Amino acid sequence: MLTLTQGHLRQLEICPRRYQYSYLEHVPVPTDPAMLERQWWGTQFHLVMQQRELGLPIDDFLREDAALDAAVNGLLAAAPELFVPQPDVFRQSEHRRTLAFNGYILTAIYDLLVLGPACGQIIDWKTYQRPPEQAQLAQEWQTRLYLYLLVETSHLRPEQVSMTYWFVAPPQAEANAEPPSRITLTYSDDQHRRTGADLQRLTDHLTTLLAPAEDLPKIDAALGYCAQCPFAVRCQRWSERFGAAYATLPAIADIAEVPL
Ligand code: SF4
Repeated sequence: MLTLTQGHLRQLEICPRRYQYSYLEHVPVPTDPAMLERQWWGTQFHLVMQQRELGLPIDDFLREDAALDAAVNGLLAAAPELFVPQPDVFRQSEHRRTLAFNGYILTAIYDLLVLGPACGQIIDWKTYQRPPEQAQLAQEWQTRLYLYLLVETSHLRPEQVSMTYWFVAPPQAEANAEPPSRITLTYSDDQHRRTGADLQRLTDHLTTLLAPAEDLPKIDAALGYCAQCPFAVRCQRWSERFGAAYATLPAIADIAEVPL
């Protein structure tokens, strides 16, 4: 059975062909070195938070990276209650939940899960400073899938669970670094029903698309997603990404030779 994460659902909803290239065929894309550096730092932050949660020492990591030190200690100062162990409360970082659903395995990995007898809190660390609008965050598949899975795989009802995103400053923020901020999203029966229905629709659609073993459909170019897509050339949507001057590529024979 295919696994579906929030990333898969997001890509699938935007463009089935993008999902195919990214997750079914693992087509490599050129990566911006600055973005790789940001991702590496984000991974370090998550690892340190996990190590701390396991009760392992983190001082050496913090000594070597001032931005990491500021981010971790800023978070501990901003939300001390989050880090106080409580009786009868299960907590685990990098907690994985899965659910068999309509022929697929829905999967989520929570940065931190805090689960009590009558409430469940999903915590997610974001290593960028400017949070999106709360309404936009509520629509993200990460929020929707994570909350859905927790309700479906625990004893809790929708109104007993919530998801909190914490935003911490990355090294690039330097002098403009602000203290960590958070957005908490609650959940309801209605939202749970809507997410279940949307998951059913998306998984039904994917099953239909995969049946003929052909390329999955491309999105309508007019919707604007191709302009930011790393597969624009592969999809022959280069003019959407690089402008009208690239509406057609010149013939190989017409391209001037570059002496090396
Ligand atoms: S270029 Fe457009 S059609 Fe092709 S994968 Fe990207 S979003 Fe989809």
